[in-house]
Amino acid sequence: MLELSGVDAHYGATQVLRGIDIQVPVSSVVALLGPNGAGKTTLLRVASGLLKPTRGRMSIDGVDVTGAAPHQLVDKGLCLVPEGRGIFGSLTVRENLVLCSRRGGEKEAIERAVDAFPRLGERLDQVSRTMSGGEQQMLALSRAYIQRPRFVLLDEVSMGLAPKIVDEIFEFLARLAQEGTALLLVEQYVTRALAAADYVYLLNRGQVGFAGEPSQLDADALAEHYVGAG
Ligand code: ATP
Repeated sequence: MLELSGVDAHYGATQVLRGIDIQVPVSSVVALLGPNGAGKTTLLRVASGLLKPTRGRMSIDGVDVTGAAPHQLVDKGLCLVPEGRGIFGSLTVRENLVLCSRRGGEKEAIERAVDAFPRLGERLDQVSRTMSGGEQQMLALSRAYIQRPRFVLLDEVSMGLAPKIVDEIFEFLARLAQEGTALLLVEQYVTRALAAADYVYLLNRGQVGFAGEPSQLDADALAEHYVGAG
């Protein structure tokens, strides 16, 4: 389990996260929702070690990892799929996959990626920036997948994609969770995130305004948090 407790974070003098308590258990999909500027991306930056919290604690399976560097968290099985995807646009699909595979494990990595998204198999030698947005997102997700992560942090994976592709991506995320990976999912697409999630946190102005199961979150509560964001 990935756990943040009492986490504050600042950019310079500006406080962006306030006393965040979040738990992401193994094999679960946890959605992190909230209006623009609520601090969702900042929370993913803290959880992946890119931004040090100014207060509070982070742990993985009960072991304190507060202030750990990104590579140390990667070693503990944590993987961030950032907004904008983090793929190398000028490289081919195959090159992107090989770059995050283990030595000697290149072939297996490519097979694993193609198993996750068969259409990548038809595009292995295509320069990745020339693919559609959906295909690029599939590449980004499969880059995470081939590293066999235990925790995947996803920032707006469905952004700008056609509904059919988003379906495919969410089916894949469900499969990842079934295989035992824990997912922390930042999403603008509220309905879809609620359908996929086992647990939801609603962030507002850097604080958790709601934490509970999707079924506990009614339309009024959602409207209150989104409208209340100002
Ligand atoms: P969005 O949905 O718009 O991406 P978000 O919930 O992910 O929003 P964050 O990107 O975490 O929100 O931003 C939270 C606050 O921190 C915002 O007020 C934003 O302007 C501010 N902020 C974000 N990045 C920086 C930065 N590098 N330096 C200073 N302030 C920042």
